[in-house]
Amino acid sequence: MNIMKLIFLIFIGASFASYADGSDTSKKLAQEVPIADVHRHVQKWVSPELLKQQMEKHNVAWSGAVGAPFGPFDTTPYTKLLQNKYIATTGQVELGDIYQELGAAGLTDINVRTYQDLLVRADKLFASGQIKGFGELILNNKDSNPNVQFRRKVKIDSAPIDSIFAVADKYKGFVQIHSEDDSDSIEELKILSNKYKNTSLILSHCLFTSNVDLVRNLLANSINLYCEMSARSRSHFINPESDRAKRLIVYTDDSVSPEWVALIEEFPTRFMVGTDTYNPRINFEKNIEEIRGGLLRGLKPLTIEMVAYKNAVRVMRLN
Ligand SMILES: [Zn+2]
Repeated sequence: MNIMKLIFLIFIGASFASYADGSDTSKKLAQEVPIADVHRHVQKWVSPELLKQQMEKHNVAWSGAVGAPFGPFDTTPYTKLLQNKYIATTGQVELGDIYQELGAAGLTDINVRTYQDLLVRADKLFASGQIKGFGELILNNKDSNPNVQFRRKVKIDSAPIDSIFAVADKYKGFVQIHSEDDSDSIEELKILSNKYKNTSLILSHCLFTSNVDLVRNLLANSINLYCEMSARSRSHFINPESDRAKRLIVYTDDSVSPEWVALIEEFPTRFMVGTDTYNPRINFEKNIEEIRGGLLRGLKPLTIEMVAYKNAVRVMRLN
């Protein structure tokens, strides 16, 4: 064996070894790291006690950042039991009521009484530290909700949503919005995030987009935009083999899309995780398994910590 060949073999061996080490470190860390679940709907079927048990069992250190749209509506008992570990928000139930009563037109009407009351109440809740943000505000789910009655698409930078951002901005809070990736919706989101720089705009389900370049451009151009990766795992889809599901699934319980890994590694401070337990069919435990075994497992160790909880802790000022 000549010396060059020997050096080459040593080099190859070393690079495989370091890959295996990094991979093992990621695998272990992904299973052990605490998680901030920033898309956890508390619902009739998840009592405060059950939520606490689930969080302790699965090392989920913080939960919430969206509302309780199907009841219990009042999330105070969750805060009472979990204190700063429950990420309290407002707005989702109110927008749900407006939509139910007045349809899509109501969602863009600043004169609706429910909006007026929400803005006054939210200001007080922020001032007293009882909420961290608004959400989930569902403004464009025209294709992404299985229930046709629940689908809507409205102008996102309308007067009432602008006012919501103004309140959040005053307290450096966040606004979590569920929108799909239509170009008009994207432009409206950009207008709000540029106008309200103190506000962190969290994009639920990372816009339900399969266009990583779109997300790449958005993140590169707006420093206060973040992606939340719930409902992008295999178990969330009733028919995971459908074309639509295949396009939208980013991770399974043991794999993650390489193009999304590249995007997350390019913007490691801008991604967060969530379980989106919006109905009893959504299996919380399975979602945690997919987050740990698929999404986080595919990232570098420092990125794992950021995506699992450090980004949420920083942006939402959790403790
Ligand atoms: Zn949701």
